[in-house]
This record gives sequence, C-alpha cells and structure tokens, in this order.
Amino acid sequence: MNRPRQPNEPVVRFIADAMLGRLARWLRILGYDTAYEKVITDEALVEQAVREDRWLLTRDQNLALRRLLRGRHTLIRSDDVEGQLHQLHRDLKIDLNLTHQRAYRCADCNVTLTASSHDDAASLVPPFVAEQYRAFLQCPHCRRVYWPGTHWQDLDRRLTAVRARSLDTQP
Ligand SMILES: [Zn+2]
Repeated sequence: MNRPRQPNEPVVRFIADAMLGRLARWLRILGYDTAYEKVITDEALVEQAVREDRWLLTRDQNLALRRLLRGRHTLIRSDDVEGQLHQLHRDLKIDLNLTHQRAYRCADCNVTLTASSHDDAASLVPPFVAEQYRAFLQCPHCRRVYWPGTHWQDLDRRLTAVRARSLDTQP
C-alpha cells in the first residue's frame, strides 16, 4: 500500500485550525503533511504556518493576523468532512485517491508510516486480521498498525463519492 514519493512531486504541507481535526486526519491518511493541535492560539497557528511554510486551513472568517499569511490560506466553508475535502479538491487540487504516490501518515501523529513485518504486526492486531492480511504499515511514534481492511474500504468508498460530487459541479 505504500509507494515512494516521486522526485518531481510538489510537497504540499498544511496546518489545520482547532475546528478541523477530522479533516486533518483524512489529509494525513491521504499522505499530506498536516499539522494540527486541538488547542492552539491564533498567534501560534499563524506563526507555525509562516515558520514551517504551511498552507493554513481555517473555519475562522475573522482569523487575526491573517494578512501575515500572504494569501496562503483557505477558508473552509463546510461543516462536514466530505464537504471540506470536496472544497480542497476543487480549489487546491488535492488528490483524493487512497492509492496515492505519497507516503501514508499516521492519522493521530502526522508521522510517515513505515512497513512493518507480518511477525511484528501480528501481535498488535486482532488475530483474524493477522491471518487475513500480509502487508502492514506502522506509525513509528504511537506504534499504531494500519492495514487495508474494512475501515480502509469505507474511506475509499467515501472518497470516491466526494470525487464524483466534484465532477458533478464542474462548469
Ligand atoms: Zn501515530
């Protein structure tokens, strides 16, 4: 499930405000480096965006210090994560394919997942999963193990629906 990043692929990095935790998790699974803190001041948010050259995603129309971002931000309009992904797909051309070329990132930690051997992963997943799947990825930070199971198929189905919606709304 993991493929190396292509040499010419542009690196897009995001930072999401405190209202956008679910969106941050989806972006990480989609391989986008996305900083997110549940509790962060506007000042710290903007400062980190500038310092780390991250594109700010915010729900806050009146975000203080917005001018410091020099236009490198998107005001997210929708309350639901599918609508938010649809907006980013339309406006920033983010790739909503789960079989993408970027390295997958841990939804919790934003750390790049690494391949885990079947033996190492087997002790950390339910027995039926260890029996059914051969390829696993693991977060080197929190040790969470990822595999292309039913949850993955559900994400894929939902992303496919968002992509279809994007086609519908093209001029
Ligand atoms: Zn993790």
